[in-house]
Amino acid sequence: MTFYKPRGKVTNMKNSCKHQKLIEKRIPFYNDFTGDESIDVIWEWEDTFKDIDLHRYKCTQCGEIGYYSGAAKDYYTKGTKNSMLGPTCD
Ligand SMILES: [Zn+2]
Repeated sequence: MTFYKPRGKVTNMKNSCKHQKLIEKRIPFYNDFTGDESIDVIWEWEDTFKDIDLHRYKCTQCGEIGYYSGAAKDYYTKGTKNSMLGPTCD
């Protein structure tokens, strides 16, 4: 499942956490000429946000919580119910 994560919310966060971390990726590489297999190592920035709830995610590094929509934020922070969030939040 893919959710849209509003980028603007990330830059508004108060702490210095970038909510990203460098991860090592190992890609198997097969050489057609020699028949050898080797491993290419590349480094990539990866978001540290993980889904913790419906329409809500949390940074695994700093614990900052973000929301996929304004409706979700209102639901979790103010208890405003919204049918947009699904039958359980109706
Ligand atoms: Zn963070």
